[in-house]
Amino acid sequence: MYRLVNNYIFTPGPVKMFEETLKIGAMQTPYFRNDAFSKITLECEENILKITNAACGSRVLFLTASGTAGMEAVVQNLLDGNDKALVINGGTFGQRFVDICKIHAIDAIDCKIKDTNLTNTSTLETHKNATALLINAHETSIGTLYDLDAVGAFAKENNMFHIVDAISMFITDRLDMQKHHIDALIISSHKGLALPPGLSMVVLSPRAIEKINPMHQLYFDFNSYLKDGARGQTPFTPAITIILQLHQRLEQIVNDSIESEINKAKEIATYFREAIRDLPLKPYSFHMPNAMTILTPTDEKLASLIVKDLDEKYNIIVAPNGGALHDKVFRVAHMGAMTKEYTDILIDALFDYYGRRR
Ligand SMILES: *Cc1c(COP(=O)(O)O)cnc(C)c1O
Repeated sequence: MYRLVNNYIFTPGPVKMFEETLKIGAMQTPYFRNDAFSKITLECEENILKITNAACGSRVLFLTASGTAGMEAVVQNLLDGNDKALVINGGTFGQRFVDICKIHAIDAIDCKIKDTNLTNTSTLETHKNATALLINAHETSIGTLYDLDAVGAFAKENNMFHIVDAISMFITDRLDMQKHHIDALIISSHKGLALPPGLSMVVLSPRAIEKINPMHQLYFDFNSYLKDGARGQTPFTPAITIILQLHQRLEQIVNDSIESEINKAKEIATYFREAIRDLPLKPYSFHMPNAMTILTPTDEKLASLIVKDLDEKYNIIVAPNGGALHDKVFRVAHMGAMTKEYTDILIDALFDYYGRRR
């Protein structure tokens, strides 16, 4: 346990948490079927709608589950046999949307892409007959932030129902539901929000609310979340403590402004990338978000070994990759309670590891 809590953490979920969040986590979990807790949930909804610039009449659903459940619930509730889903598949999370569509018998186009952030949407032109477009705004497995301006415009132009998993870029990179023509947005507690895992939120535009299927599941039936959510409640016991932590965090973000939150992440990401420029590591993606840096060794070193050594020798946790990229890349997140001082711990360790002076 000591070793578990003593690590310096730089992973894209969970991320370093704020003191205020930790304090709430240490409290007795309160009862929730009352006006006091309803007020908390309604204020969370209001602040999320504000931060995402959701259209008037949009709603937020609070699901007690990790982000993948949010992805699956959106597909189940909002797509049906009449849909043809164009899934942008740039890595692990794009593939997950493909798998979800397959399991739920949704006709899906597996649009595999590489080395593009889709500023140029011409590769999508052949799939104009799709009725829905599914994308992970930041494909976390390869550190690529897609151009939501371009993708959103493409979706709108072709009247596609636009589903965006913004889990790993929410509040660290720019996101605007109206500007990006997003109908359903998925976010989660344990990335940029820097809360414990276990809470996912789905933001639905008025068009998405219209499109909800009649109930064919129990736990993730959006209609029951909408109905109970109108009075600040959820159909089942929510992740009460995480909602309290979310409430505190959202108040802070709205008070400070979302721009300052984005700028903070950008500043830390830039600081890190510049500090390590002379080490034998280079960015793996040309379109990295503020949320994360993805690196590949330029010498013979295996990325998987760097991850292991940082843990064992420096007590620092960075994220390994799975599959074909296991030995090629590792990832450093800049989300959450990051400061330059905290980032220095990793930078200094990397310099020491390579026997260089900073
Ligand atoms: C982290 C993440 C998810 C959610 O993964 P869970 O393990 O279910 O929390 C979904 N999409 C993206 C892009 C992510 O980075």
